[in-house]
Amino acid sequence: MDGPAARSGRIGWSDRIEVVVFDLDGTLLDSDAALLAAFVELGVPLEDVTYGHAVAAEAERLGITVDAYEAAYDTTLAQPFPGVEELLGRLGRWAVCSNKHPDSARAEFARLGWQPEVACFADDFDWEHKHLGPVLDQLGLDATRVLMVGDTTGDEAVAAGVGCPFVWAGWNPRTAEARPSGVVAERPLDLVDLLG
Ligand SMILES: [Mg+2]
Repeated sequence: MDGPAARSGRIGWSDRIEVVVFDLDGTLLDSDAALLAAFVELGVPLEDVTYGHAVAAEAERLGITVDAYEAAYDTTLAQPFPGVEELLGRLGRWAVCSNKHPDSARAEFARLGWQPEVACFADDFDWEHKHLGPVLDQLGLDATRVLMVGDTTGDEAVAAGVGCPFVWAGWNPRTAEARPSGVVAERPLDLVDLLG
């Protein structure tokens, strides 16, 4: 994998980070199959589906409504990636910044017992692509104090938008196969080492 190996230990920004902000789908949750199943139920060809977009924009692109997608999405299917729950238990402060429909996301959080300090979903971004502004506002922190972790270039752009460090969720096989440049954590618990 390109970039500094996660197991090389702490890096320059480690001391400043107070909160880790995660993307949800494809980062904390192994949700590709659940997301796909809803699209397929609505007649969308598998090969047309991509990941990491605002749910409203992706629904429009694929010719369905957000409400239809939300009704078709099964919130009981997606499970955390191996190691994620242990990671969340080890982190003092964590937050979520996701393009997901808030009803789906909150149902999954309730099922999993997850209680991030701050969680922003599609409605917090007026159903446009997410950004870190509302997350930072609610945390009361500036961008130098957070680390963004995600699986898509949209997540990378979110971090770049405010100038905070970014780590790739390399435990997602789709992300690892893309061999992204930058810092890649091969396993969730590698983040603990990175943060020191
Ligand atoms: Mg994602």
